[in-house]
Amino acid sequence: MAFLCRRVVQLSCRNFSISSVQCAKKLMGDPMELATGLEKRELLAELAGNDDPFNMKLMKRGPGTKENPNLIPSAFDARIIGCICEPEAQHIKWMWLHKGEPKRCSCGSWYKLQETTPI
Ligand SMILES: [Zn+2]
Repeated sequence: MAFLCRRVVQLSCRNFSISSVQCAKKLMGDPMELATGLEKRELLAELAGNDDPFNMKLMKRGPGTKENPNLIPSAFDARIIGCICEPEAQHIKWMWLHKGEPKRCSCGSWYKLQETTPI
């Protein structure tokens, strides 16, 4: 009986999800036609080949010395960054990075804000 109940639930979920997706495809138009403002600029940037328009992807650290800090792109005066200090670390060290003020993490890596143009 439990097997039958589970099977019925699985079938009903599958039918529901398939029908809702098909229904959404019929009702919703092209996202590019519906998007406005920031969302539209994001979609246009992705079409132009920029798959990370907000610079949110994980970046690998460079040497990170005081003379050659890791450059963090930002279109604002400050940005929150996270440093994974060691490869086996279980936590991320979060900190604010301000424009014109290079900052040193507790692991010794230096970071500096690099100005970029907003999308
Ligand atoms: Zn660190």
